[in-house]
Amino acid sequence: MKSTINIITPEQALAMQAEGALLIDVREPDEHALGLPVNALAVPRAHLELDPSSYIRDFKGPLLLFCGSGRRSMLAGEALLQKGYRNLFNVDGGYQRWKSENLPLQTGELDVDFSERYARHLRLPQVGIEGQKKLEASHIVLIGAGGLGSPVAYYLAAAGIGTISIIDNDVVDKSNLQRQILHTEAGIGSPKVDSALHALNALNSRVKISTHQTRLTSDNVHDIIANADVVIDGSDNFPTRYLLNDACVELAKPMVYAAVERFNGQISVFDAGRNRGVSPCYRCLFPEAPTGVDAPNCAEAGVLGVLPGVMGLLQATEAIKLVLNIGKPLSGRLLQFDALAMRFSEIQIPVDNECPSCSLSKP
Ligand SMILES: [Zn+2]
Repeated sequence: MKSTINIITPEQALAMQAEGALLIDVREPDEHALGLPVNALAVPRAHLELDPSSYIRDFKGPLLLFCGSGRRSMLAGEALLQKGYRNLFNVDGGYQRWKSENLPLQTGELDVDFSERYARHLRLPQVGIEGQKKLEASHIVLIGAGGLGSPVAYYLAAAGIGTISIIDNDVVDKSNLQRQILHTEAGIGSPKVDSALHALNALNSRVKISTHQTRLTSDNVHDIIANADVVIDGSDNFPTRYLLNDACVELAKPMVYAAVERFNGQISVFDAGRNRGVSPCYRCLFPEAPTGVDAPNCAEAGVLGVLPGVMGLLQATEAIKLVLNIGKPLSGRLLQFDALAMRFSEIQIPVDNECPSCSLSKP
């Protein structure tokens, strides 16, 4: 047996496969979208090099190594050589040459845009192809295209949430631009939902953006959230928040809440609708709307521009976790952020058994 790596053409590789050689495609899963050689064993290079015996087992025949261009497979071959493997062949030109010579490919099930765009998600075992498809099949409703809604919408669109509904009745004002990064100077005076649609389409044309230029009211809230997997509260006033909370409890939708003022933010996940008596709702935390000094709003109190950015990204993180059903959601916990001290703190939110919205005695 030779202790070198032989270079072969794709055509020779195909002929050797027919006589029982094993072709190993060392590309990453997201590179398989356009296809891989028929009967290839797909093992990403790092996995193969780490533990070749678990893939090759007791196979004694010729090993044909294959990648995109022939370079990575050569390195994989050298690693196998060092581990004592012999009878190694590198397929010159890899996938590019295989394809240009019209040799048989079995097509991957994913389209190229999906594989390229979400490559970094596909490499995470907690997301992977199944998880990414889950994101693509999901529908998130976002109330507000302002300071919180801007980063939320951008990252949800980038992450590949299939449908994002955005509800906002405002038009863009110059004073919004300090933090509401969905909007630009050119959009001043036009509806926020329009500039949101424009920005998000430009980022990810796979995502369906559904816009509603309206206020959330008791007449429309049920229709708006009816098909949502997750609802995100990016509103800036208590009546909207209570309305949204009560509808989410009633229709059993998880609601990702956040609020900001000055240098402080807070976030939680309210999931009482799906877990009555176990998870609190917003009314369990604040039975009544705070008034006066306890309820400053951005317009009166001011807000550091980056603060809704920080809190919105935490909301997007929670929303994606909820869709994927991974990790531990912020349900029952209020996470508080102090930007000046640069400190996060957390308090537990108990369920209020007398809660007018989510108590077990409510239908
Ligand atoms: Zn409650």
